[in-house]
Amino acid sequence: MDEIDKEQEFYIPVENYYRVTKRNGCLQMAGLIPEEFLEDLRGRTDIVEIISEYVPLKRTGQNYVGLCPFHQEKTPSFTVSPAKQIFYCFGCGVGGNVFSFLMKIDNISFVEAVELLAERQGMEVPRTRGAREKQERRERLYELNAQAADYYHRILLHGEAAERARRYLNGRGLKKESWARFMLGFAPAGQGLLQFFRGKGYTIQDLREAGLFIERYGRLQERFQGRVIFPIFDHRGRCLGFGGRALEDEQPKYLNSPESAIFNKSRNLYGLHLALPAIRDKKQVIVVEGYMDCITAHEYGFRHTVASLGTAFTQEQSRLLLRYTKDIILAFDQDSAGSAATMRSAGLLQEMGGRVMILDLPEAKDPDEFLRSQGREAFAIALAERTSGFLEFRLDQLLKKYNPDNLADRAEIARVLVEELARIKDHVVREGFIRMAAQRIHTSEEAIRLELSRYLRKYRLQKDKTEKNRYNMEQGKQTFEMQPLAAIEAARSGLFSFMLQDRHLYERVKQELGRDVFSGKYEKYLDLFERHGWDNAADLLNQLAADEQQELAALLMRTEDIQLDEIQKERLIGDYIRTLKKGQLQKAIARKQSVLKEFEKNNDQEGIKNLLAELYLLYEELERLKTPRTVDSMSQERGE
Ligand SMILES: [Zn+2]
Repeated sequence: MDEIDKEQEFYIPVENYYRVTKRNGCLQMAGLIPEEFLEDLRGRTDIVEIISEYVPLKRTGQNYVGLCPFHQEKTPSFTVSPAKQIFYCFGCGVGGNVFSFLMKIDNISFVEAVELLAERQGMEVPRTRGAREKQERRERLYELNAQAADYYHRILLHGEAAERARRYLNGRGLKKESWARFMLGFAPAGQGLLQFFRGKGYTIQDLREAGLFIERYGRLQERFQGRVIFPIFDHRGRCLGFGGRALEDEQPKYLNSPESAIFNKSRNLYGLHLALPAIRDKKQVIVVEGYMDCITAHEYGFRHTVASLGTAFTQEQSRLLLRYTKDIILAFDQDSAGSAATMRSAGLLQEMGGRVMILDLPEAKDPDEFLRSQGREAFAIALAERTSGFLEFRLDQLLKKYNPDNLADRAEIARVLVEELARIKDHVVREGFIRMAAQRIHTSEEAIRLELSRYLRKYRLQKDKTEKNRYNMEQGKQTFEMQPLAAIEAARSGLFSFMLQDRHLYERVKQELGRDVFSGKYEKYLDLFERHGWDNAADLLNQLAADEQQELAALLMRTEDIQLDEIQKERLIGDYIRTLKKGQLQKAIARKQSVLKEFEKNNDQEGIKNLLAELYLLYEELERLKTPRTVDSMSQERGE
């Protein structure tokens, strides 16, 4: 009861306390920050300066180019426009403004990107009350965790109670440098942490929510007592929670912080904040299972290593990792749980677009043991020579389980392999693998091919119906409308791009073609331009979802790289307008023709006569458009 009284002393009740269970979506949150603030912040930021911190840029003409951080390329197609304050990759189509860039490269939410920039500019993000409170709660948790990490770390370094922990870490061979780099700590028995937080302004509710304590008989008890502490940080280096390893035989051996408003095990990767520079540098990442594997890998110079906090990868973790690199080496434990995790993770990562290699280290139970027993060189050699693709790994697994000399076993191996093979799109890779697999399971290549085609037939049968429908629809379009439609669409988007550079052209187009010529998404973009003004492209991107941002960035950038003089430009614009006008006329003619058919059916002679006259005029106009006027003929018309 004594304790409870003490606790009451520094209990500050929080009104409107609520638990944040789900992260808000970006657009919803974006609405909570006033538009004027976003524009002001964006206006004070230089996109070239920000992107340069991630991508080396070179000036070419009025733009900057560099190697795209979002796809693999050898010649730069990633373009940044200082005039428009947007970026666009001509290789992979990614584009947007400075906020979208930060969201993509750092894998953060819109609000986080806004905060990041605001912080640089020394500006404070204004928020609605609800959003502000929510954010404040999160900030408190980050802060609280950071202090706890610091407390645990100091105890590990200097505390008497941590003698055993120090012996343990030394025994595992961890250098002091790594203790500091990973902020390792020790949680002693007793009420030390609670005392530590006393007077620091936190509420019991804060402490509860951070997950550092468990409640027993009405008292807060430290969750990690007697454990070595591994703080878990996000990619920006904010402390999200902790992992604690038992020093004796306590169960469980590893204990994690519970989920909180900021900690979600399935969304983070251990060591990512420390590994990022090396991952960007090497364009590759090594994924291990445990904390120790990760720390040891860093210690031995493999700083592009992260640890999955559980066993198998989740979708969120895969997405997080794939933002930084597509080339992933899995170096999980060599036991059966490890290989099961490898299988699932590799399959998922591959499906999501990763290029996955699997590292085989049969001499040791995990990378930590391997590095400490065989050394840095051996690990580097293994990385270079003993990684295999997902399929080879799968085959190895199957061969461990089944005996290829047994007929039934062989059939089972083939059945599983064929399922995996069917997912490979590249013909050469597929053939190469069939050859290798045939040798290893002692069968003929023909047998595997036969099995594969049988599987594909069965698989196709299910998909066939929808495929066929789609095909028919596309074909139907193609027979009578596809050609002009493509040309009209090209003219529309081409003209639209020019219009976005030049307000006066928009006025001219409105007069000659009417605003209706731009419907659907174009209409939406035009509305934005009319609302925000023509010089504000980078800001109005904030109003759009990611895919629309990319599309609009593409439209904004596409005229950048075409070097045209005024006459060429005018001619191109004239062509576009003519094509669209032709499209409008053709549509009008088609409409009148169908009415004509009705009249003919009803034998409406008067109607037919009038319609034919109208049609004649339309045909005449169409005919005039078909002979393009050259600059010369235009001068002649003007009598020059
Ligand atoms: Zn790209």
